[in-house]
Amino acid sequence: MLMKAGQFERPFNINVGGYDIPPIGEYDLLVKVAYCGICGTDLHIYEGQVPFVQFPIIPGHEFSGTIAAIGSKVTNFSIGEKIAINPNLSCKDRRYNLQEYCYYCKKNRPHFCTNWEAIGVTMNGGFSEFVRCPSTSAFKVPNKVSLKEAAFMEPIACCLHGLRHIRISSEDTVLVIGAGPIGLLMISLIESQYRSKIIVSEPNQSRRHFAQDFGADIVIDPNNESLKEIIKTETDEEGVDASIEAVGSSATVEEAINLLNKGGKALIFGVSNDTIKLNLFELYSKELSLFGSFTNPHENDEALNILKSKSLKTSELISHILPIERLEEGLKMMKTKNENVKKIFVQFKE
Ligand SMILES: [Zn+2]
Ligand SMILES: [Zn+2]
Repeated sequence: MLMKAGQFERPFNINVGGYDIPPIGEYDLLVKVAYCGICGTDLHIYEGQVPFVQFPIIPGHEFSGTIAAIGSKVTNFSIGEKIAINPNLSCKDRRYNLQEYCYYCKKNRPHFCTNWEAIGVTMNGGFSEFVRCPSTSAFKVPNKVSLKEAAFMEPIACCLHGLRHIRISSEDTVLVIGAGPIGLLMISLIESQYRSKIIVSEPNQSRRHFAQDFGADIVIDPNNESLKEIIKTETDEEGVDASIEAVGSSATVEEAINLLNKGGKALIFGVSNDTIKLNLFELYSKELSLFGSFTNPHENDEALNILKSKSLKTSELISHILPIERLEEGLKMMKTKNENVKKIFVQFKE
């Protein structure tokens, strides 16, 4: 029997066809995928920009599904159970014993694992009817959470990891630069979990509307308004307590840093290979903090709890649900930043 999957043969070339269902090892699960989110990383893979990806590969790392088969040594799962996957694998998922753990896994920082692999990045992932996953990568989805909601576990956990760095509170004013799929998710998390005042900078009009829908207090069109002046007015001339850059360009990262108040914290969430100019006297005298954020080592349970609480409007975050045959179209929609694109999901039939 063959399964349907979208395999990236080489950059800019996807074949949606029938592939062999992967065999599983004794500590693995076979996941029957229900939903898989399309992420910016998938677009980077499609364009051949991720150095550690080897073609051919079936990407997709934001997925939920049910258990179709269980390895003989797996005891804590049963067939048919709903799960979501943490795609980032470390020494624990390789079943190393503690002495064999790498430098970072010994420090309980598994996202920096020197043996790191990721389902849907270095191994076949969720743009596929079936995926082989180590059982340690699976999280049980609470009853109240649907499989559609559960596909948000991974991106929410990534955002939570980033937000943890900047420690915002309801007293803070937070600037979010960029209201694409991740910017919108950040905005809804800040609004629902932290209650901070949110200022959003986004050139695209429909995205500004979405930002407002998800709880932004002030939305700014940086092409036609002065972000700097508005922030001055809103913050007694001082700047924001925290900024989140969700674009991935040097200009917006510099903006995120320059608009901070004294003690301000910038979370650089957009991915880019650019270089920025940083005034070291400002860094010193204003006690600024800059944070990068890589994956989601400890935040998946918290993400599931947030989904269970129903405090996020996840269904409104989704703009398109496509069959696997339309995966390439979905990637192109993300690329062109099509007006109405929020999160795009690939759905497999039950
Ligand atoms: Zn992702
Ligand atoms: Zn490790």
